[in-house]
Amino acid sequence: MTVLSQAKLKPGVVTGKDYQTLVQAAKDGEYIIPAVNVVGTNSINAVLEAARKNKSDVIIQLSNGGAEFYAGKGFPDSFQAKVLGAVSAAHHVHLMAQHYGVCVVLHTDHANKKLVPWVEALLEHGEAYYKQHGRPLFTSHMLDLSEEPLAENLSECARVLKRAAKIDVSIEIELGITGGEEDGIGSEDDDLDNPNLYTQPQDVLQAYELLSPLGFFSVAASFGNVHGVYAPGNVKLRPEILKNSQALVESAHKTAHNPLNLVFHGGSGSEQSKIEETLKYGVFKMNIDTDLQFAFAHEIGNFVKENPKAFAYQIDPETHTPYKKLYDPRKWLRKGEEGIIARLDQAFRDLKSAGKSIAQ
Ligand SMILES: [Zn+2]
Repeated sequence: MTVLSQAKLKPGVVTGKDYQTLVQAAKDGEYIIPAVNVVGTNSINAVLEAARKNKSDVIIQLSNGGAEFYAGKGFPDSFQAKVLGAVSAAHHVHLMAQHYGVCVVLHTDHANKKLVPWVEALLEHGEAYYKQHGRPLFTSHMLDLSEEPLAENLSECARVLKRAAKIDVSIEIELGITGGEEDGIGSEDDDLDNPNLYTQPQDVLQAYELLSPLGFFSVAASFGNVHGVYAPGNVKLRPEILKNSQALVESAHKTAHNPLNLVFHGGSGSEQSKIEETLKYGVFKMNIDTDLQFAFAHEIGNFVKENPKAFAYQIDPETHTPYKKLYDPRKWLRKGEEGIIARLDQAFRDLKSAGKSIAQ
């Protein structure tokens, strides 16, 4: 029988051992913490509000593009924008999260080979922050070297994890390639031995043996998941891949049940029954991006449709009614935030994390 962990944490950004406690609580309690991609204070605040409303802990993450946008599309240097945008967003979350009364994990999303310097620059900022505050700026960073040969993927992850672990930062690695538009995959044969579509359990075992002595890490595994939302019938979800990976590591190293911390990328549009199956196999994090982009845009779109004149005239040309109250950005940006919150209500429910916050 699983003994549910009774651990409680202070609300706010969690890092190091506290992050490990949170991951274990999710695995023991068989729920998944939603990981939401954000691009500005609107999306960050909406995520915090939704987490508080649903009494769920939450993961806030920035892609390199999201971080660049956070710094400003007109920022003069693209690389610097990716770094400083992420740092700026992290400071915002550190300041705000504790007041929302839930635990928040701060994470950065996919970094391929070209973006390893981005992660290293963020670690440099993390090291400076650690000196001052005794904790890092980010809880974890993802390294996605799944396009590289396995040996290179793993040795590079080991190199970065050694540095990250010194300031209590975790890493997420990717084994096998998540399908979808940005990855150019999604129509290959549904073959379990295809290492591009499906993570191979023996690769996961190799990662475990190399990385677990160095620090805390999680694995984004490919089990037929795709980024984005597509018509049904693309690639079949095969959660048994996760089960087999856990079983292989458990038997090879006589570990406790579900030794791996698994991450579900490309969760938008997945069947609920398949999501629930992954809960049993040690998945603690699921990324949600595409569905929230739509939720944000859809609500703003509705508002514009309902009030078309307010977006064409400051004052109505016939009735002379002023439209200031409708075109004020706070009015329609709030509609977008409400769209994010409503979609997250569903995500917290689907992933069974609602009511499970371990903050007190
Ligand atoms: Zn992803």
